[in-house]
Amino acid sequence: MTNVSVLVVTPANARVDRVDLSGATEWSDHALQLATYTCPHCKSPAEFSTSTLRKAESYEGSPLGAEWHGQCNEVRPLGVWEWSLDHRCCGCGCPVRIVFAAGSEFAMGSHAHRLVDVVEMATCSRSGSTAELRSNTSLERTRER
Ligand SMILES: [Zn+2]
Ligand SMILES: [Zn+2]
Repeated sequence: MTNVSVLVVTPANARVDRVDLSGATEWSDHALQLATYTCPHCKSPAEFSTSTLRKAESYEGSPLGAEWHGQCNEVRPLGVWEWSLDHRCCGCGCPVRIVFAAGSEFAMGSHAHRLVDVVEMATCSRSGSTAELRSNTSLERTRER
């Protein structure tokens, strides 16, 4: 990732189907809480669970590298009880950061998680997807006029 791209911060509930994940059901497999993030560029879903978040809590920096970590921290610094879950979209390859915080509910020595914000690339790193999105938007605008 040599190009420094513009990053945008969006409330998590605009991208993820649920933003409150309980810590209470962790030890019960069938009740494992899942959330699905949908990429705004290519609509690819990325599923993660409370255990994914717990692993991310102990991670120093970012699995996507120091450059991405630094850029994210500039646009969306993490608070004391906040962590980040970074991944690359499986569809278009764009890096995504999901910022989450400790929820109010505590159980079995673990806490609930609340998804706060997502940090995304303003433009898709795969230019094809971007062109597609833009042409769709302009088509709609043409129709409105
Ligand atoms: Zn994508
Ligand atoms: Zn993308």
